[in-house]
Amino acid sequence: MSDFSMELNDDQKTLQEWVHGFAQNVIRPAAQEWDEREETPWPIIEEAAKLGIYSLDFFANTLTDTTGLSIMLALEELAWGDAGICMSLMGTTLGVAAIMANGTPDQQMEWIPQCFGSPGDIKLAAFGVSEPDAGSDVSSLRTRAVFDETTDEWVLNGTKTWITNGGIANVHVIVASVDPELGSRGQASFIVPDGTAGISMGQKFKKMGIRASHTAEVILDDCRVPGSCLLGGKDKLDERLARVREGKRSTSQAAMATFEASRPGVGAQALGIARAAYEYSLDYAIERRQFGKAIIENQAIAFKLADMKTRIDAARLLVWRAAWMAAQRKPFLNGEGSMSKLFAGEAAVHVTEEAIQIMGGYGYIREHPVERWHRDSKIYTIFEGTSEIQRLIISRAISGVHIR
Ligand SMILES: Cc1cc2nc3c(=O)[nH]c(=O)nc-3n(C[C@H](O)[C@H](O)[C@H](O)COP(=O)(O)OP(=O)(O)OC[C@H]3O[C@@H](n4cnc5c(N)ncnc54)[C@H](O)[C@@H]3O)c2cc1C
Repeated sequence: MSDFSMELNDDQKTLQEWVHGFAQNVIRPAAQEWDEREETPWPIIEEAAKLGIYSLDFFANTLTDTTGLSIMLALEELAWGDAGICMSLMGTTLGVAAIMANGTPDQQMEWIPQCFGSPGDIKLAAFGVSEPDAGSDVSSLRTRAVFDETTDEWVLNGTKTWITNGGIANVHVIVASVDPELGSRGQASFIVPDGTAGISMGQKFKKMGIRASHTAEVILDDCRVPGSCLLGGKDKLDERLARVREGKRSTSQAAMATFEASRPGVGAQALGIARAAYEYSLDYAIERRQFGKAIIENQAIAFKLADMKTRIDAARLLVWRAAWMAAQRKPFLNGEGSMSKLFAGEAAVHVTEEAIQIMGGYGYIREHPVERWHRDSKIYTIFEGTSEIQRLIISRAISGVHIR
């Protein structure tokens, strides 16, 4: 008998149904309002916290699934409800992933619970890498971290941009350059705790999509954090920098470790939006009549839906494979994490556009959610590495050639 199965187990099915119920009953009805308001949907986060969906336990439990699928199932369902609200709920996990990827066990124990807070006392986290002049090119970060031996503090200076939960988070994880000459190998991640002087929010951005998610600049102006806020600790950093200066390879790059871990999850969110648009436009195509018959009876419409469903299922398989590999600690030797995010992000843009086409004028107006889903989908080919950067990672991985 084969031990290979594509069936979800009972725990996974229960989780999927539970999160789907929350997405259907709480997120969907609120989606249009928060898109228009362009604000963090605090009441929805509070509701999610009460139910245990926005919590450390939820995050920890889904991550203990050795198949890697549980968190992917949850993300797909939340984004099916609404991608902006999903990002408001899950933006915190980017900061958490950075602490998990780079922090010592003690730092993880101290800081991760503070990223979520508790019902009635919600906390958020943010992960700040991008800068006005350093987006895809993470090696050129200008934000500097300088160690002040006299006070055992790190002093951070610089501007981060497009940061999810930036300036409103209680815990900011900031990637800064300790030794600019070493590019991304000279960078480290720092916790900036709540209430630290010298960190502030710059402009808040008005966006095309995922508008329920807060995106803003974060300004660091002589922002001093205790030495213990350097993730991984100073000894490990000093050893790593010494190895790099001697010309030896360093396995650890602060920002990259986080992005690698989070890419399949970003793909799962894109998948949720695509599925929402596919289901909605399929129902519409069956109902809508023109020339005396349902529009789905035309191959031109039916074949679109066939292609949409095929892309969605293919994207899910790539997402699940990458999630499974990550859970098994198998390295992404062919850029499998990037493949999942690349394909799912582009599938979401394509599927949501086709959904608008299937619905004609009704797809283009705000009475129906498909125009919002299309606006929301576009960010999935941009953040956490653009589609071009994913192709760069995959092509370098499969060829061993330093493709530019
Ligand atoms: C809503 C939103 C939320 C975000 N949240 C966060 C966050 O929480 N934390 C964070 O740190 N960042 C965040 N970002 C930033 C995001 O990760 C960057 O926007 C993204 O990495 C791209 O950088 P850029 O915008 O500077 O584009 P650029 O790097 O300037 O790229 C512009 C274009 O050039 C292409 N390009 C660049 N270099 C190459 C190359 N070598 N080969 C081929 N093509 C190339 C790109 O693919 C793109 O098409 C967020 C952005 C948005 C819009």
